Amino acid sequence: MAVLQMAREKRSCPRASETQQNNSEKKGKVDGESAARDKRAITVTVDPEVLECDVCFGPLTPPLYQCMRRGHITCSTCVAEMGQECQWCRAPEATTTRCRAMEHFLAALAVPCSFNHKGCAAMVPYGEREAHEAACAHSPCYCPIRGCSSSPYSGVSLVEHLERKHPEIGRTRVDRTTLSPLRMCHGEPARLVYLAGDDRDRAVFLLAVDRSEAPRGWSLWMVRLKAEEEEEEDKGELRYKIMVAANGGVLSLVGETESVGRLTAPYRASSFLFVPGAMLDAPPEAEGLLVFVELK
Ligand SMILES: [Zn+2]
Ligand SMILES: [Zn+2]
Ligand SMILES: [Zn+2]
Ligand SMILES: [Zn+2]
Repeated sequence: MAVLQMAREKRSCPRASETQQNNSEKKGKVDGESAARDKRAITVTVDPEVLECDVCFGPLTPPLYQCMRRGHITCSTCVAEMGQECQWCRAPEATTTRCRAMEHFLAALAVPCSFNHKGCAAMVPYGEREAHEAACAHSPCYCPIRGCSSSPYSGVSLVEHLERKHPEIGRTRVDRTTLSPLRMCHGEPARLVYLAGDDRDRAVFLLAVDRSEAPRGWSLWMVRLKAEEEEEEDKGELRYKIMVAANGGVLSLVGETESVGRLTAPYRASSFLFVPGAMLDAPPEAEGLLVFVELK
């Protein structure tokens, strides 16, 4: 059974004169109404099946359609794909028609976030639950550091997780447009790189080193760590360069920094620099791996 909160209200039909109000007056009324609704909300338990499409069993999201024969409720996706005839009844008289009553019912529902057992107390409108949970701070997130024992984690941003749970990760401040040397110790999985002179949280980068045995070598990749409150379109405009001097020449990787925030699945770097162990003069086990990094 799902626990739902419903707005309970008694309303009289609006008179024609009331519909002439200007937009700002309307907004004031809507705000007032929702405040009144919050006070009058009741909590009910419901069989989740009544909130599912009778055809595809997906969550009901408006617009909704109702079968004229037996009242089967169908989502708009199913109607668009299979036509107006009810897929349960499959009879000529069982056409579907828009079901605004069910739409109004769903619009008045608030449901608890699925991660309430992780500490999220939010009650969200039924239709917005998926969007809320995708961005919910209490949803499980994956750490990009290989072998992280705290992954998946929740309740903190990726930057906070890295700073609190990975004392083995060093921090380096680099100047913009300067190729800066950075010695990665043996066993150090990554480095937090800060831009000097840029005190905004967003100027935090992660240089990760994944070691592999077959083939023996080091995969280096770099991402920009996105701040929690950052807008989706606020993309990282910085370019990075990773360079390693090897005995066969210089290996380097140049690219635009990918912004990484909440990882809802294990992370796989889209591009990385592979340094074969055979190309290094000194074994990194002793002296670490000397990497040059540039951000511009
Ligand atoms: Zn459906
Ligand atoms: Zn039907
Ligand atoms: Zn939540
Ligand atoms: Zn971690």
